[in-house]
Amino acid sequence: MFFLSLLCVCGLLLRGDAQDRASLWRGNDRSGRCQYTFTVPSPAEATCPQAGGPELDGLKARLGVLEALVAQLGGKDVQLRGGQQGAAARPQPELQEALSRAVAERNLLQGEKERLQRELDTLKLRMEEMRREAERLRSRPCLSPQSPVAAATATQQDWGRGRPPAGSSQMSHLMTRPNRQGDSSDLRDSAWPHGARGFQELKAEVTEVPAPDANVHSAGCGELISVGEPVTHRKANTIAGKYGVWMQDPEAVSPYGASMLWRIDTIGTEVRQLYGYDDMEQLSKGFPSKVLLLPDPMESTGATIYRGSLYYQRRLSRTLIRYDLASENVAARRELPHAGFHGQFPYSWGGYTDIDLSVDEKGLWAVYSTSKAQGAIVISKLDPHSLEVKRSWETSVRKASVANTFMICGKLYTVASYAARDTTVNHVYDTASGQLKALSIPFKNKYGYNSMIDYSLAQRKLFAWDNFHLVSYDLRLGRQQAD
Ligand code: CA
Repeated sequence: MFFLSLLCVCGLLLRGDAQDRASLWRGNDRSGRCQYTFTVPSPAEATCPQAGGPELDGLKARLGVLEALVAQLGGKDVQLRGGQQGAAARPQPELQEALSRAVAERNLLQGEKERLQRELDTLKLRMEEMRREAERLRSRPCLSPQSPVAAATATQQDWGRGRPPAGSSQMSHLMTRPNRQGDSSDLRDSAWPHGARGFQELKAEVTEVPAPDANVHSAGCGELISVGEPVTHRKANTIAGKYGVWMQDPEAVSPYGASMLWRIDTIGTEVRQLYGYDDMEQLSKGFPSKVLLLPDPMESTGATIYRGSLYYQRRLSRTLIRYDLASENVAARRELPHAGFHGQFPYSWGGYTDIDLSVDEKGLWAVYSTSKAQGAIVISKLDPHSLEVKRSWETSVRKASVANTFMICGKLYTVASYAARDTTVNHVYDTASGQLKALSIPFKNKYGYNSMIDYSLAQRKLFAWDNFHLVSYDLRLGRQQAD
């Protein structure tokens, strides 16, 4: 007992000094008796850090928190040490949502990358195919001279031999074509392979065309030599087309082209419809592209078209009207002084052919008669803008004695009969000289009732309206005589 008391006293005394280094355990031994165990670190181990205990537990807890934070930032849960998921490791909803978006975008970009890669592979394949095709073409033999490739090669060779280049003056007579206004604008087609041999050969063929008869000049302004056979272009299919007038503007004005043809059926008292056809083919088929309604009714078959205007005689009057085709309005209106109208001085076939207007190389003309002239043909040159009479000529040919008249190069020609199948052009009156001369140039009325005959400056032919039929006649003119 004493010994036990001493041991307790010593333990209490030593605790104040070595309580951090010594420890006391109590327990039962195998025999059931109480056993006290007292341990003290040796002097050599007094400075060693204590392993285990509360400090280790603290470190474990702090490490768990850090792992949870890393797991949040990295997007995946981290099992806490010990196999349990801590509350601090649970991701917040907004972070999860951002993560989902980022993953979706990444997947999208990945898909786009794969698509571009496929396209790149396709382009590489096509480039390779084109390269092989180019090599194959280069290895082929030379092509025929007519091919564009050969043409281009020929052009280069011609340059090398000192020949004139494409479009040079050697072929300029084919490239330009002066019109009546002296406009020599370039007619070359930019798509034409100018330097090709094929074109050179074509030029040679053109220049080898034989020249026409030296005494005949179909495009000149000489005297009429002959009139060809009538060529029928169209038959009118209604009674309104028994008489009429058809025309072509020699100086067409936009929006109407140079090939435009015009027609008026002149049966009836309200002749106001003007039909336009794009070209001769459409006229022959009877397909007008334009129908104009004239503001004033027309009389006679003597209308004409010139520089974008229709010129005609107003019904029951000596008033001349210039109707502008583009604006579809009357541009000028003027009386033809003293002119007979409405059957006062018609041609021999009758009808209201008192005032006959026409166009030739010299301009706009009116053929009519007056009381003063007592039925003789009067020719007046008109100002095409204002319709004023610029100058008049009075002939000795009675208007009622001839079937019709036409003007070519300032000369008036008369046709003897409107009905005889075989008749003649029987007079010519030259306004330049004031001389009348008898002629006997064969002329055919194929359909036996010719109500209109006029010179078409646009085609250098005669246009006529013969008993429902629209016909034309080729002409041969002599060379123009020097004044
Ligand atoms: Ca006439």
